[in-house]
Amino acid sequence: MKRHPQTSLIHATRKAPQFISTVQPPLFRASTIIFNNTDALFNRHWTDDYDYSYGTHGTPTTYTLADQIALNEGGEHCLLAPSGLSAINLVNSCCLSHGDEVWVADNIYGPNMEHLRDLQKRYGIVVKVYDGLDAQSFQPSKQAKLLWLEAAGSVSLEFPDLKGLIKKAKQAGVCIALDNTWGAGLAFNPFDLSDEHLAVDISVHALTKYPSGGGDILMGAIITQDKVLHHRLLRMHALQGIAVSADDTAQVQRSLSSMALRYAQHAKSTQTVLDWLIHQPAFSQVLHPAYPQSAGHQYWLEICQTGLSAGLVSVVFKPEFDMQAVRAFCDHLQLFKLGFSWGGPLSLVMLYQIEDMRHLAHPHLNAGILVRFCIGLEHPEDLIQDIAQALKRMNSP
Ligand SMILES: *Cc1c(COP(=O)(O)O)cnc(C)c1O
Repeated sequence: MKRHPQTSLIHATRKAPQFISTVQPPLFRASTIIFNNTDALFNRHWTDDYDYSYGTHGTPTTYTLADQIALNEGGEHCLLAPSGLSAINLVNSCCLSHGDEVWVADNIYGPNMEHLRDLQKRYGIVVKVYDGLDAQSFQPSKQAKLLWLEAAGSVSLEFPDLKGLIKKAKQAGVCIALDNTWGAGLAFNPFDLSDEHLAVDISVHALTKYPSGGGDILMGAIITQDKVLHHRLLRMHALQGIAVSADDTAQVQRSLSSMALRYAQHAKSTQTVLDWLIHQPAFSQVLHPAYPQSAGHQYWLEICQTGLSAGLVSVVFKPEFDMQAVRAFCDHLQLFKLGFSWGGPLSLVMLYQIEDMRHLAHPHLNAGILVRFCIGLEHPEDLIQDIAQALKRMNSP
């Protein structure tokens, strides 16, 4: 049948041969996925592992990345979300109903706490804050449904008593969700912690950080082991229309192959910078889980038997350095750029008034302005020199 150009430009004739094999998997962009026939249309079911029925449900491109992420985290199932925060919110909206209690660590990723406070106001969810260093501060009531863990905690980097907290949550029948962005599935296995086969129920990973590795793509993942829980999350994922871009997925897939090597280098460079930071008189504290004087170091030793840590290290300036001085320090840095997020090649810096961010007493943290360094892939000696020159210039404006 002879067709008009308008038609033939839409119906491509060449198909890729089945046997063609490339280093990276082929990229599938899809809203519509075409069914082979009506049998395929009527026999599909949303709980099938690979339900190819619509772009929001998944394509070979998204399933390939999801499988790799699940494998890396030690889980069975994985859902992708357009950002780490979106992945967190999916867990909250799936696990919490009116009257339920949710427990969050005081040093949890800030926007998660903010979102939960919003749910508290609007939907009557009860938010309780605990201290990750003290498992006894987690006292779930009968209404407790969800415990959020983060190891190490955001900004101040305390490593929590994961084993103690998980044991208590299991006893109380509370669903355990871990924000595992810091560990990235590399520092420890969230589904098999230490020798006692302790596991979280849900691991959430901001793929924006190390899996993307470029500082340019936003994505999140929700990893589980239990099929029933996965299906609850999958249903909510579909109903909320959560979907990721095929191109972004392919970019993350491509970066994932070097993630373990990059993570190890970030960890090593951070240790080099840390070894220098602890001798600088401007700081009253240096915070990093592998540093024996940091809060929660003993829990890090227990859990991170790989000896690995993410490329984050924070310092607390001595009280004589006021906000103006610390701002000058940040402005004088040349290699470290001022910006949120981490996990890319570029080193970043951010400053915080930690007193304004914590709800519970935090005697282990000195008073003073906190600066967090995200160590990128530059040579650590250059990074040290950069911090040294900024400290010098801050003192002599
Ligand atoms: C960055 C981050 C998130 C959020 O990820 P986005 O993709 O930026 O939304 C969540 N948790 C932690 C610990 C993070 O560092």
